Amino acid sequence: MLTFLGRGSAFTDYHNCAYFEEGGDLIIIDCSMTSFQRLNSWDMTVYNHIYVLVTHTHGDHVSGIGMFIDMLFFTVKTPITVVAPSEEVKADVRYLLSEIEGCNEAWYDLISCDELKKPWFGNSILTKHTAELEGKCYGYFLTVNGNRVVFTGDTGIFEPYEEYLTPGTYLYVEMSAQKTPVHLFCEDMHQKIKDLVESGVHVYLMHMDDEIRIMDVLDDTGAVPAPLKDEGKNMECSAPLLNNIYEITDRLYRDMCMNGSSDHNLLFSYLTELGKSIVGADRASFWKWDKRKEQLWTMSATGVDKIVIPDNIGLVAKALRNKKTLITNDPYNDPDFNKDIDIKTGYKTNSVLVLPVADINGNFIGALQLINKTDGKGFDAETDPRKLSLAALVCGIALESETFLEDSHHDRLTGLKNRMGFYYDFGGKFKDYLIPGSGKIMSVFICDIDKFKRVNDTYGHNAGDDVLRFVSSMIDSSCGDTDSVYRWGGEEFVMVMRDTDLEAAVKKAEDIRLKIMDSDIDADGTTIRCTISFGCALFDPNKTIEENVSAADEKLYTAKETGRNKVCF
Ligand code: GH3
Ligand code: MG
Ligand code: MG
Repeated sequence: MLTFLGRGSAFTDYHNCAYFEEGGDLIIIDCSMTSFQRLNSWDMTVYNHIYVLVTHTHGDHVSGIGMFIDMLFFTVKTPITVVAPSEEVKADVRYLLSEIEGCNEAWYDLISCDELKKPWFGNSILTKHTAELEGKCYGYFLTVNGNRVVFTGDTGIFEPYEEYLTPGTYLYVEMSAQKTPVHLFCEDMHQKIKDLVESGVHVYLMHMDDEIRIMDVLDDTGAVPAPLKDEGKNMECSAPLLNNIYEITDRLYRDMCMNGSSDHNLLFSYLTELGKSIVGADRASFWKWDKRKEQLWTMSATGVDKIVIPDNIGLVAKALRNKKTLITNDPYNDPDFNKDIDIKTGYKTNSVLVLPVADINGNFIGALQLINKTDGKGFDAETDPRKLSLAALVCGIALESETFLEDSHHDRLTGLKNRMGFYYDFGGKFKDYLIPGSGKIMSVFICDIDKFKRVNDTYGHNAGDDVLRFVSSMIDSSCGDTDSVYRWGGEEFVMVMRDTDLEAAVKKAEDIRLKIMDSDIDADGTTIRCTISFGCALFDPNKTIEENVSAADEKLYTAKETGRNKVCF
């Protein structure tokens, strides 16, 4: 029926203004400056004629009319008629417009509604508003696209409209959160509105000074806010939601950039939180697709613990497989839905939205998942994915860089961390051990496979690779929670052992040496044995990292020089 350019009162950003189209004409009810600002961007050449119906002469209802007339005259030339609800109001409107410099009387028609002969026009309805408008404030009864429409305008009383409100009528009624004599107070109107809706009147609320409060009070009446142009499509957000979004993104920025956190998990948790807020969902999670392990696991989830699942079951897997956004508001009837998590946790999934994300090569690497729309209505295929797109995209980029960082710190052949990983850890988890006088101790060994060149030369390079893989897995399996092992170079490995003195480090090296020495290694089909030499040192925080590794390396050299297959320290 009517569409609104704004549904706020004088105290809000966008003032009340409704419009409809009929027979090639555009009919606007009231026109404030904020309404003009919006109308200004429309293509007015598509209309034969424009009518502006005035309800009363307060500035938040008429201040844009003069500008609108000027704009039409100087640019598109579409004719405009200003319609006043009575002769008395017409005189006031004439005075107002004549006072605007450059708004020439020849550029518009001004008539009272009695002179208006249009099928959509019913009559003006006199009401009461502020004292100075006594006898000069009106609502309208119209027939819009064949439907009965009552538009109250600003009013302190409801009685004048009641006789028009037969079932099926569209009522656009002003509503206030304040109790004053000049507006309808939402608490006083509660029962009346409820009764009207029950009787079959379509009730829309407009000219609201505090939309959230009013909608809260009238929540159970069945009345709804008057529809805004492009609402939903252009994501017109109410202020609390926007504030919530800004709050989350600001915290994210400060934590990631200003407080120096290099933890991507923080980013995933903030962005899933953001997604949850934007669409109003109960839970959100971001999933990484680990194709090597054929698993999906949560990088961050709100409302649930970390979960790992095989990559061939569930809706996240389905969305990734199909490379398509997935929405279901009836998951239990989707054969791909994995009920196990609900069964395990006792949670009931009612609606699901999954947005898969790809890396720069177009390979799908993860997905943002939202569960249970809090309004209970389910996800909307058009609006919700649009709202989530930025959060999903940023999660995807972060995941890609996370994976890239991870890959660059690991050695492909052995799966161990490489030298880049080694230096990265010294900037992170070993940081405290580098501070002289901290009292923290750490030991390090470097080891090197003996006569390894001979393995390659005798059994081939593939056999050499097998030996490297075997030896690295032996060292890795000896690695405790506070130990870290790296492939230092070709057949050399380094282990850093936190909270470990030299004696314990030597013992660990010795254990590994013996295990390797006694192992039969399957090297490209041939069973061979090999030995390994170690150099061990206590980490000295007064020296550089390189000097510390050199200290251990000197001991390794000694081991090599004095017969190999031994631990020197
Ligand atoms: P030493 O006991 O003195 O350490 O003798 P070595 O033969 O082990 O030492 P050398 O430095 O002469 O040889 C190391 C060999 O390791 C040479 C190189 O081809 C081989 N190597 C390095 N990286 C790899 C790898 O990734 N795969 C294979 N198969 N061989 C590698
Ligand atoms: Mg060697
Ligand atoms: Mg070597």
